[in-house]
Amino acid sequence: MQSTVDLRNILKRIDGRGYKAYKEIKGQYSFDFFSLFIDHVQGDPFAAPSKIRVRVAQSAVSFPAELLRSPHRKLGLADALIRIIDQNIKKVARLHRGTGKSGLIQIDVGSQEILPRTALKITDSFFEARMEIGLPARGRTILGQHAEAMIFNELPFIVEQSLFYQNIDQLKVRQFAEYVENYFALQKQLKEKGLVALIADDAILPRESGISSKPLSGTQAIPFKSPEELKISLSLPNPVNGQSQITGCGIPQGITLIVGGGFHGKSTLLKAIELGVYPHVLGDGREYVVTVPDAVKIRAEDGRRVEKVDIRSFINHLPGNRNAARFCTEDASGSTSQAANIIEAMESGASLLLVDEDTSATNFMIRDARMQALVHKEFEPITPFIDRVREMYERFNISTILVMGGSGDYFSVADTVIMMKEYKPQVVTAEAKKIAEQLNTNRTFEREFEWQTITERSPLPESFNPAKGKKEVKIEARGLNSIQFGTSNIDLQQIEQIVDISQTRAIGFALYFLSRRWMDGQLTVRQLLERLQDFWKTEGLDSLNPLHKSEEHPGNFAQPRTFEVAAALNRYRRLRVRQIKTD
Ligand code: ADP
Ligand code: MG
Repeated sequence: MQSTVDLRNILKRIDGRGYKAYKEIKGQYSFDFFSLFIDHVQGDPFAAPSKIRVRVAQSAVSFPAELLRSPHRKLGLADALIRIIDQNIKKVARLHRGTGKSGLIQIDVGSQEILPRTALKITDSFFEARMEIGLPARGRTILGQHAEAMIFNELPFIVEQSLFYQNIDQLKVRQFAEYVENYFALQKQLKEKGLVALIADDAILPRESGISSKPLSGTQAIPFKSPEELKISLSLPNPVNGQSQITGCGIPQGITLIVGGGFHGKSTLLKAIELGVYPHVLGDGREYVVTVPDAVKIRAEDGRRVEKVDIRSFINHLPGNRNAARFCTEDASGSTSQAANIIEAMESGASLLLVDEDTSATNFMIRDARMQALVHKEFEPITPFIDRVREMYERFNISTILVMGGSGDYFSVADTVIMMKEYKPQVVTAEAKKIAEQLNTNRTFEREFEWQTITERSPLPESFNPAKGKKEVKIEARGLNSIQFGTSNIDLQQIEQIVDISQTRAIGFALYFLSRRWMDGQLTVRQLLERLQDFWKTEGLDSLNPLHKSEEHPGNFAQPRTFEVAAALNRYRRLRVRQIKTD
């Protein structure tokens, strides 16, 4: 490790020279109260910024041991610290220090969700923040004095004000740590209590706008109130406002229907449940909307590719002799895409499906008596969802929450019916069942055969080629919902449970990682995802990018769920699989 004097000397020497001379500062430097690692130096002021790490000894920052007591507390603490670092960066970093990204300092901070991420690592001996800086230049001429100001004034200020316990908002970090522990404790209780989701009383579900994940402001939003029939209390390991119980609406396993007039808050409720698979920042309004971790949003997604999915339970006897047992298409229809989405979610281990009529294919969801009379079953390949949804629960233990304002046919198959009325939920199961008896739909149950198994698939590793041009590995997140993988583009536009571009990036690298490490044409999608999950549990996200050396800035990753990794795998247009025959 070099001294700060060495670093100052280099900066003085290269001042005014061409940008490439910055490469000399790569290395490790010992400051008074932290170590600085300059791992990667950018090639020019417009290139991706340089990668650095700052490390402080745990003995020096004096955090109380109870904040580090469990992995969930550490996750909450790390997330709070990243947000504090981000705030302090905004206080001092000056973006106008020259050309391009000159003067930039940044850390990969999350938005409304709290996710494990590489931006801050906590070990038994140190805290390490992984950041980026834009080394300053005018044109391509190094501005050494500006670099000195960034590294010797701004950076130490940020470290001192963000990573030392005596200098930070202690209440905030404690609340984050305790909250994340609460969230996961509740999630664990759901399964034990036969529930799939909890929506706490007073939760704020609506968002500011269709393009913002911030809460709708206090006066406009109507807080959630649980109907009496579904009210439950779950215990919290850390009391909130002096309460060690949280009360709210517990949605039971089985088939739950959310009905109600248009614009009465049905989709908003479902959306909150969808994202309840993640803890949320304090103040979000959805902190205590908690969903089982294996809940998957299902929708129609015409245009997607499908690779050898056995969709016969939903769609069979396709025209033109297409094989529904190993259904392939480069351009799925609404109904076939929705069928494939369900089978793939089951294959990946989902225990709860979330379906909204707004984004479903009508012919996949319902086929009423009149249509059954006109279009005879032998000319209709589709077995609608309504005729499978109970079987999915009874045979495979997969629950469904379904928003359906348009068809009462579903009353017959639902266990619980919730009606949204002016954003207030009511339980109307008994009325719905009575109506179902009185007003017969006259439709015929159209299941052609009993659903025996899910046909599993094994991805072939040779389908994954991340090379592009001279680059052996070119994997990039292009926005939240698109991954460049080699020369291919993976479209994740309809994958609604990805919430952070660093998850998207991680998904891209996870595919590569899976293909190199475990894919062998034998292991199934499910087995591969389980290995990945175990690997993340023990190793974290640091070694996801194989191009980075182990003791370097690992790149900015946030942990995705394995369901979203599977979603990307299934939408990768070069995927080839082998079906595993179980019978
Ligand atoms: P639906 O699916 O029943 O047609 P939405 O869930 O799309 O209705 O909600 C309609 C509108 O009402 C949206 O603009 C949404 O933001 C707003 N909204 C939903 N829930 C609430 C609430 N609890 N308080 C205030 N506004 C809400
Ligand atoms: Mg809706």
